Amino acid sequence: MKLFIIYFRLFLILIFSSHIFANNNQTLKFFENNVLLGEIKTIQNNQFFSVNDLAKITNSKKFINDQTEKIIFYVDNKKIKVTNDIAFILIEDSLYQLSSKVIKDKNDYYLPIDSFFNIINNLSKDFSAALTSQRISFSTRKITVTPNKKVDLSNEKQKWEFKTIVIDAGHGGKDPGAVGYRGTKEKDIALDVAKRLEKKLSKNLNVKIVMTRDEDIFLRLSERTKIANENNGSLFISIHTNAAEDRRASGFETFLIGPNKNEAAVRVAARENAVLELEGISGQKLTNEDLIKATIAQSAFASKSEQFASMVQGEIKKRVQSKDRGVKQAGFYVLMGASMPNVLVELGIISNPSEEKKLRSPQYRDQLATAIYRAVEQYQKTL
Ligand SMILES: [Zn+2]
Repeated sequence: MKLFIIYFRLFLILIFSSHIFANNNQTLKFFENNVLLGEIKTIQNNQFFSVNDLAKITNSKKFINDQTEKIIFYVDNKKIKVTNDIAFILIEDSLYQLSSKVIKDKNDYYLPIDSFFNIINNLSKDFSAALTSQRISFSTRKITVTPNKKVDLSNEKQKWEFKTIVIDAGHGGKDPGAVGYRGTKEKDIALDVAKRLEKKLSKNLNVKIVMTRDEDIFLRLSERTKIANENNGSLFISIHTNAAEDRRASGFETFLIGPNKNEAAVRVAARENAVLELEGISGQKLTNEDLIKATIAQSAFASKSEQFASMVQGEIKKRVQSKDRGVKQAGFYVLMGASMPNVLVELGIISNPSEEKKLRSPQYRDQLATAIYRAVEQYQKTL
């Protein structure tokens, strides 16, 4: 059966004006044909969007339970359940993590825009939402059958889903990360490989690349994920090198977020999370319960993250003489809250003198960057 398919995009572009609300809090009002459609609230530098406005604009049914402080509404026929003062939302039967808690004000509920839009954009092929500094737009794609026109669906879908890659060079500034026998610093190796990867990706793929840092500066772990979410990243790659007590240990491995199952993986996560002490929040140790919550929140991306992680391992293995330590999971703070598929790559064990020597070689680092670039290319083809 031959069907010819065309997309109609219905863009509703809302332009809004702004005025200062109070102190740090700001409300943006947006209009269409001079009719007030809704408001965006900025509270402590986070932008929030009203569920009432969203329901109105998208003609969605909504149900409020004042006792339990929950609101249910629908986007693209998917049931979304929001609870006041909670940073998770339930869509159908899956739990998703927002970048901050839901706020209730009078009879309305407000959601953090960046992570909410990111979640629904990943979830729905037929509905999308975007916010730029000047406007907010929703678009609906309807499929109808008409003769004589043909659209390449696979291309269209890919474009929709894979737009921005976030590269995170681990550590930086006052945090050198692991330091090798000859004084080689993890932060420098990570940044060099990140920059090489950025070049290869921007040269060869039609995607936007965002670097969490492109110089030797200190960045909090939470800031890294925030940058990724705010840029609506489609993939988050955190680049590191490892250290081990056993000087003979060597090899490369790729991590996903998940409950701690393996002692060695827990030690790697503990080392990578140690920067929290420099951030002054070492008291906030991740409990296994936190991890289970984070894992559930990422359930929508888990299989994609795992797929990409094994591609990274495969591509590195093809190119360098080093041990394939495989794909593992543990509680990495930097991956928590990323609203997109995400991995943390340990390029090698810098505390092993012979691996340190390899990592000091620009050719070796270029091979590693090429491997990750090839993994991205391969991953994009599966979307
Ligand atoms: Zn690291």
